Amino acid sequence: MANKQALIQAIRGMHDILPEQSPGWHKLEKTMRAVLDSYGYQEIRLPIVEKTELFKRSIGEVTDIVEKEMYTFDDRNGDSLTLRPEGTAGCLRACMEHGLLHNQVHRLWYYGPMFRHERPQKGRYRQFYQLGVETYGMADADIDAEIIMLSDRLWRQLNIRDKLELQLNSLGTVEERNIYKSRLVEYFNQHLDVLDEDSQRRLHTNPLRILDSKNPAMREMIVGAPALMDYLGEDSRTHFEKLTDILDQQGVKYTLNPRLVRGLDYYSKTVFEWVTDELGAQGTVCAGGRYDGLIEQLGGKSNSAIGFALGMERLLALAETADGFHTDPTVDVYLIRMGEMAEKVGFQVAEQLRDALPFLKVVLHCGGGGFKSQFKKADKSGAEYAVIIGDEEAEKGLVSLKPLRSQDEQLTLTPDELVKHLQQV
Ligand code: ATP
Ligand code: MG
Repeated sequence: MANKQALIQAIRGMHDILPEQSPGWHKLEKTMRAVLDSYGYQEIRLPIVEKTELFKRSIGEVTDIVEKEMYTFDDRNGDSLTLRPEGTAGCLRACMEHGLLHNQVHRLWYYGPMFRHERPQKGRYRQFYQLGVETYGMADADIDAEIIMLSDRLWRQLNIRDKLELQLNSLGTVEERNIYKSRLVEYFNQHLDVLDEDSQRRLHTNPLRILDSKNPAMREMIVGAPALMDYLGEDSRTHFEKLTDILDQQGVKYTLNPRLVRGLDYYSKTVFEWVTDELGAQGTVCAGGRYDGLIEQLGGKSNSAIGFALGMERLLALAETADGFHTDPTVDVYLIRMGEMAEKVGFQVAEQLRDALPFLKVVLHCGGGGFKSQFKKADKSGAEYAVIIGDEEAEKGLVSLKPLRSQDEQLTLTPDELVKHLQQV
């Protein structure tokens, strides 16, 4: 006899979304699509695998993602490919490849799994879902305000606006940032004794990231560091002021965070994060910014771009803490049938309900069994109603409608009356 094989399990940090979890995802996806539609944003669907070079060139060699988080492999031709760790690079690649950036304006979104080899923990996975929103061809701060307001509307729709704080900063231009960087390195050099090992390394590769450090021992020293805001030129400053003016006018609350630098190299001017303190350490739900320089960096003609990415697992965890987060039921009506004739009629009635009421979720009991066991399944399904057909009823052309969640009376109806009744409830 063959040995019993060990069960193969999923890869660490890569989760199944089980049937009972799907309604929560559907609710988020439905809400997010409705909000995106209401702002006139279009969906773009992109490959999950791209050439490794694309991410190296766009995200930057000395970032956490490229240094240690990418799933990179050689395909059979020997080309180096990578499972996308984020969507901005692929979205830009596609738009450049199809000539969508030439004298055009675009408001786009994409949705799907991203892959990063991180240490799995609550709110941090190796495969996770992102909604990405990207806009191209608009240099003014009004579009910065629009995408922030779009996300703000999504939070309001999900009843979580009061659980999120909008943090804002400006990273200026590359030139402004370079001047600032050298001032910052000078400052950190005066406090070398306080810098942890990670930060000492970053001092030479990506000193801005030190501002982002969560190490409490460094907090005081970091608070005293020079602020990038003081190094902005005229253009960056006016851009930022216009953004905050619009947000003020529109009543979108925000906090200025001079230490918000974002992990990726490609940002310029506006950067923002929506953070919550209800999810423990993984508190950033949505993050984005302007990346005007990236298109040129990828070999295109200089152009404007701003976008954000939203972590769906974190959003779901937060949405579930909100009052009144309820998901649509999976089943509205569970149809029970017993007897030879009832089995046939059951099919007809179920199809008639689906024809007349396409939004009604009708489950037809399959596989036989007594009334008692069928009722148990009806109850367990969460359905509001059971429709019951026995041979006796079937012969008279009648069905019974039994409310499963209320004390209302059971009714005996013709199939047409059943449709009318269910239409009204
Ligand atoms: P973090 O600082 O948490 O690592 P990040 O700066 O790497 O975030 P982005 O690349 O800006 O994150 O991604 C945008 C959003 O995607 C994050 O704010 C978060 O909600 C989500 N996200 C990023 N990485 C993960 C992950 N490994 N698992 C789950 N969600 C993630
Ligand atoms: Mg990260």
